[in-house]
Amino acid sequence: MGILNSYIVKFVKILPKFVVFVFARKYIAGTKLEDAVRVVKELNSKGIMATLDVLGEAIKTKQEAVDAKKEILTVLDTIEKNKLNANVSLKPTQLGLGLDEDFCFGQIKEIVQKAAEYNNFIRIDMEDSPFTSKTINLFRRLRQDHSNLGIVVQAYLKRTYQDVEKLNVEGTNYRLCKGIYVEPAEIAYKERQQVRDNFMQILDRMITHGNYVGIATHDDYLVDGSYKLLAEKKTDRTRYEFQMLYGVKDSLRNKINEDGHRLRIYVPYGEKWYHYSIRRLQENPQVAWYITKSLFSFR
Ligand SMILES: Cc1cc2nc3c(=O)[nH]c(=O)nc-3n(C[C@H](O)[C@H](O)[C@H](O)COP(=O)(O)OP(=O)(O)OC[C@H]3O[C@@H](n4cnc5c(N)ncnc54)[C@H](O)[C@@H]3O)c2cc1C
Repeated sequence: MGILNSYIVKFVKILPKFVVFVFARKYIAGTKLEDAVRVVKELNSKGIMATLDVLGEAIKTKQEAVDAKKEILTVLDTIEKNKLNANVSLKPTQLGLGLDEDFCFGQIKEIVQKAAEYNNFIRIDMEDSPFTSKTINLFRRLRQDHSNLGIVVQAYLKRTYQDVEKLNVEGTNYRLCKGIYVEPAEIAYKERQQVRDNFMQILDRMITHGNYVGIATHDDYLVDGSYKLLAEKKTDRTRYEFQMLYGVKDSLRNKINEDGHRLRIYVPYGEKWYHYSIRRLQENPQVAWYITKSLFSFR
């Protein structure tokens, strides 16, 4: 299955979009905001929080960034109107970080301001390494006037431990994840266990400094390790949350929820579902099975 998977993953990108959509649906709430609202209501009814993501990244024109901002502002209005227990995650390149840093700052500032009016929160996702420093700078700049925002850091990057040492002193609300992009070995750990070890060391530093952490993983090893660390450090349950992606490992999700930890699900929606779904499929050990199944069952 492993070899078959790696071959099929290479072919995922050349599959027709309608085929990809058949098995990508598992990972997205739908293409419309009302789809996301429905999913969040269902999660909230089980005591699970959400973070909403309007799909899209690396836009090419400022107009596209303005359009993305408008959609995100509508999401904030909708969360408020429906009294959802949800915040918003956004990708800086979707708001123009790759085009013009000052322009992007202005776009995100508007969003953060609106969120503050609603007493809501914005999570800035972390993208690939050309944007790491720019994203941290952007976050620091926004934080001068606002406290209702947090950043993501990636355990596979060798620089992250040092970044966190500095951000800890400043007081930061984090999401800690392994990292999803393909990065060169000079800057990123490549071995599974190295990434896990770095994840646990970084988490330890965050907790020890009393910073709020979203522990974002589906890896049983890291969830078990986090449980132990949190117990050892006697961390109050209001000081952290677990975070998982919509459609991934519902059994683990239910366990964390039943164990009484705060849990937030990342719920993406939108017309631009393709790139997000491809990344999820490439992570999925069952990908070959899904693709084969959908290829044969689709008429
Ligand atoms: C809430 C959240 C937000 C994130 N935000 C970012 C971000 O801003 N920037 C960034 O670079 N990365 C982000 N990620 C992705 C993250 O970096 C990892 O790539 C991803 O979570 C997989 O790592 P893992 O820790 O779950 O471990 P893995 O070893 O990849 O997965 C552990 C196990 O979970 C299961 N699993 C994992 N993924 C899938 C899947 N797609 N389908 C089915 N089963 C699966 C498998 O059983 C696997 O063995 C985010 C992840 C989460 C949960």
